[in-house]
Amino acid sequence: MAAQAIHSEGIILASTKLKETDAILTLLLKNGEQCRAVCHGARKPGGKFGARAQIFTCADFLIRPGRNLDTIGEISTLASNAGLRCDLEYSNLAYIVCSFAIQLSYQDALNAQMYEMTKKALTFLDEYASLKKEADLLVAAYIFKLFAMHGLMPEMNNCVMCSESFEDIFSLNPEAKLWFGPHAGGFVCNSCSHLLLGAHLVPNTLHEWLSALIYSSFEEISDFEVHEEINKALFKAAFWWTREHLDTRIKALEFYIEQKY
Ligand SMILES: [Zn+2]
Repeated sequence: MAAQAIHSEGIILASTKLKETDAILTLLLKNGEQCRAVCHGARKPGGKFGARAQIFTCADFLIRPGRNLDTIGEISTLASNAGLRCDLEYSNLAYIVCSFAIQLSYQDALNAQMYEMTKKALTFLDEYASLKKEADLLVAAYIFKLFAMHGLMPEMNNCVMCSESFEDIFSLNPEAKLWFGPHAGGFVCNSCSHLLLGAHLVPNTLHEWLSALIYSSFEEISDFEVHEEINKALFKAAFWWTREHLDTRIKALEFYIEQKY
């Protein structure tokens, strides 16, 4: 007997062309599971799916299990996130979010929290796009939160090399230099920085900003007032951390860094 069709909320993370009018959609389902399914007629102008089978869309899907690949029966849009598809910068940022979700979600691995976080990040990005609001901080937060969820949280309170607390270091010398060493696993004090290859000199409040970013909700982050220099340093830190801790390259992130930084 064939397995039963399922109904699930999900997000379209990627769409790959298949034949003339079909596509394979990569979905992140509400339970956090990744699912690839064929959508017949997804690319057909005036087809039954219309614009509903597009990347970044959040929808209710009817998925029918198939012998090799599942197929999509119906799509009922919950949020089209259309603003993310008509502006190059925001669409690039949304591609970054979706690429991370693809890399860190798996078939048969449940992680509902990851779904909620990804959905929220795209909702906020779409809102930022309509306001033309700077969104790098939001995406840096998503990246670090996702790593933290997978057990890869940078050390932010103490130097990763000598364990001295930054609170002590900066109370003695507020002008002390601070370094970020992705390979060592977090922030590094100035005395230890020369022991470390590939450490980056960063603004000396960055450990506090990063902590605020990881522990705040997207709602709270949208009210942050962050200096341009800190904003850029946090995004670059997300890039360095990714390069060190993810086996795969996130092309959208590399492209964005190349274009903007
Ligand atoms: Zn140290």
